Amino acid sequence: MARYFTRKKVFQLTIVFLALVAALGVLSLMPHQHRGSDRATCVMHQRDLQMLMRHVQEEEHLKAGAPIEWAKLIGPGLLMESKPVCPVHGEYSISPVVTGPRILVAPCRDASHRAKDISDW
Ligand SMILES: [Zn+2]
Repeated sequence: MARYFTRKKVFQLTIVFLALVAALGVLSLMPHQHRGSDRATCVMHQRDLQMLMRHVQEEEHLKAGAPIEWAKLIGPGLLMESKPVCPVHGEYSISPVVTGPRILVAPCRDASHRAKDISDW
């Protein structure tokens, strides 16, 4: 029986095949990692907005339900330079009033973009 491939050729083909498998593996992992970092960015933004609200609440002795004047807080030269947005879903719907404990002032519409524990926010 004729041998179509030499031992060396088989070895070379194996290396090429393994390189392809490795490349595909890396490619299939990448979007996943990207989704993870989008989520982390989004959670950080929600926390920043929550912290800003709590800061103002404390400074001005506001109770839950009191209106917040975001226009005086977010903008160039203000406490927060610009309104953060979710990298995937865009703008947050920001509550016009101070929220109670453990209630997000600017939740992302994506339920998977929620922090696991916001008890100290
Ligand atoms: Zn989000």
